[in-house]
Amino acid sequence: MRNALGLMLASVAAAVVITAVWFFTASRHAELSAPATVAAAQVAPLPAVKAAAAAQNAVDVTASIPEKPAAAPQPKCSNPDALGVSRVVEIDTTGGPGFGFEHFKQLDFLADKEVVLTFDDGPWPVNTPAVLKALSDECTKGVFFPIGKHASYHPEILRQVAAAGQTIGAHTWSHANLNSKKMTEQQATDEVEKGFSAVKQALGTAPSPFFRFPELQHNPATVSYLGTRNIAIFSCDLDSFDFRASNPEQIVHTVMTKLDKLGKGIILMHDFQKHTAEALPELLRRLKAGGYKVVQMKAKTPLQTLPEYDEALVKEAKLPVTNTRPVNSVVQTVSE
Ligand SMILES: [Zn+2]
Repeated sequence: MRNALGLMLASVAAAVVITAVWFFTASRHAELSAPATVAAAQVAPLPAVKAAAAAQNAVDVTASIPEKPAAAPQPKCSNPDALGVSRVVEIDTTGGPGFGFEHFKQLDFLADKEVVLTFDDGPWPVNTPAVLKALSDECTKGVFFPIGKHASYHPEILRQVAAAGQTIGAHTWSHANLNSKKMTEQQATDEVEKGFSAVKQALGTAPSPFFRFPELQHNPATVSYLGTRNIAIFSCDLDSFDFRASNPEQIVHTVMTKLDKLGKGIILMHDFQKHTAEALPELLRRLKAGGYKVVQMKAKTPLQTLPEYDEALVKEAKLPVTNTRPVNSVVQTVSE
């Protein structure tokens, strides 16, 4: 009799666990697929998307922690004259398409007066938050290409970038020149994959499969590799050369002069650079005044990072702990 009761209890427990696992998996799926719906529609909040978001919140509240507040909605634009985002494009990264006419001329998707804002080398204290503030003051969006190491130093800043609704790709682990003669094919692959895994570790979610080569040094073997991984490659149409600028005015002048000549394009900047952060409010005002429109690029599906690189990063972060003694038994003041 006892055995029968025990068996019954065990079956009930197993059913609960199975249901909980299914519930969690289903809600994760809903979370991942929601942004694709937004991008595919290419329109700001749709009732269906709002309903999906509400359903997601409901799942969170009922399935886990009842006291958890609902996810904060994206702040509405309070600036009536904001530059804004004129259109959102969704990128199918199958086969690793290349963007930016400096190197890739097949995909001409921008109309006249359309620009894409891109920012490399972050996340970095002060400068990245200043860039984010300038973008949110103008209710506009760009694509960020963080360095893996920087993401591991400042994950909280990268999470701010994600929370602001910006698109996030990756820019290698250590900003190595992948086209250097000293670089083996395997080392170049490691730089790419470890970079993406570090961004994922910082964010807690997978980044977009968007990659930019450091210094725009395209290693042909790595370009082919990125194709097999379905990762889009970003060069640019227009380099701000902000890392060389001696003041913010110079950056605004360089970008506007090149843009007025080209008429449109993907603009390369660095949220890592102080002068870029200082230049951005004025640059965004000038873009608006010049009749330019910002296009945000989003990925159709997030990147599947490789487990071996994810695991290697976790191991690196966890050095063995040898000390178990309290601090006052290790450190003693002997003179004051
Ligand atoms: Zn860079």
